[in-house]
Amino acid sequence: MNIHEYQAKELLKSYGVRIQEGIVADSPEGALEAAKKLNASTGTSWYVIKAQIHAGGRGKGMVNETGSRGVVLAKSLEDVPVKAAGILGGTLVTIQTGAEGKKVNKVLVAEDVYYPGASEPKEYYLSILLDRGRGSNVIMASTEGGMDIEEVAEKHPEKIIKEWIDPKVGLQPFQARKVAFKLGLEGNAFKEMVKFITSLYNAYVGSDAAQFEINPVLKTSDDKILAVDAKVGLDDNALYRQKALAELRDIAEEDPLEVEAGKSGLNYVKLDGNVGCMVNGAGLAMATMDMIKLSGGEPANFLDVGGGANAVTVEAGFRIILQDPNVKAILINVFGGIVRCDRIANGVVEAYKTIGNIPVPIIVRLQGTNAEEGARIIDESGLKVSSAITLKDAAEKVKAAIS
Ligand code: GDP
Ligand code: MN
Repeated sequence: MNIHEYQAKELLKSYGVRIQEGIVADSPEGALEAAKKLNASTGTSWYVIKAQIHAGGRGKGMVNETGSRGVVLAKSLEDVPVKAAGILGGTLVTIQTGAEGKKVNKVLVAEDVYYPGASEPKEYYLSILLDRGRGSNVIMASTEGGMDIEEVAEKHPEKIIKEWIDPKVGLQPFQARKVAFKLGLEGNAFKEMVKFITSLYNAYVGSDAAQFEINPVLKTSDDKILAVDAKVGLDDNALYRQKALAELRDIAEEDPLEVEAGKSGLNYVKLDGNVGCMVNGAGLAMATMDMIKLSGGEPANFLDVGGGANAVTVEAGFRIILQDPNVKAILINVFGGIVRCDRIANGVVEAYKTIGNIPVPIIVRLQGTNAEEGARIIDESGLKVSSAITLKDAAEKVKAAIS
């Protein structure tokens, strides 16, 4: 689960990580109030207005309706509501949102932290993630902060510092010092960075996060180290014990079909293709998507109905797939291991009858216990459903259905 930047920063702050201070607002008037409060608490007289969406690249992104960027500077109090109005309610398109963009419902009004001083402010990159291959956490850092880190990783892999942390031992003080040293820091900035990395790691572990990305981490002109941006991905499987964080879920940021599927206990991911599929088991679902591609189609979704598929889950699956207007055919691929094929076949027929007229052809491939019996039920149902037992047969039927 992802959370917004303002929520992520509050989380970091609660662990002692220094952040660029800010207050969230959902109207231009609210943004002005926020700026006044910030002025009182931090003394800042310049403000950064930042669109709150679950996607990065906001600084370079553009709001369709107004041409405003997703992150803008306001150099006076009066300018804050004007700049906020250019972002709020608009559709922000960034390299991470896709062409359709994302509607902005909230802005974060933050203090300007790039003020001039003894030295130039400098941007760094810092992330913590799970390295599944090594079974450990990894801190990644770079002096090339603020920019597209994928590009840095590709063109200058030597500029990415990596420090692996054994989760059983935790972050050792020497490791935080090593990263700060490799970033070329010294004096107070070095000490600040060590503190920053240490509290950031505590926040990562304490919140059961799967990914933290702070880009940029800023060294201010007076050698403070703070988080200007914060992208936090939480481990969904740990949300049961992170009740406060689970509350931060913003359904408006998620695909509505995925939200609905979640309510029915279905594991659904929306894709852009024309063949809907419903499968029991994630591995078989992946193989089925490959098969759809081989037959000349494109999968419209990933859908794992789980081991105990029955008429109710099949019906919920149908309803979700059918809401996608791109779907030209539906392929149901079920392996009858725990669940018997005749039961699935009856479930399909029942669900079909409940929903009524399904406008696209359905191919049901059943294999395993009572597969023949299942195929017979499908074929004798009199519905616009065809059965298949082999994968090859199913692929050919899908091909015929979409061409
Ligand atoms: P992203 O584009 O979605 O990654 O959003 P960021 O939070 O990283 O902000 C984008 C850019 O805005 C940063 O890289 C900075 O260059 C700029 N920015 C952020 N905060 C400030 C600030 O306090 N003052 C100034 N002048 N620029 C800022
Ligand atoms: Mn950023």
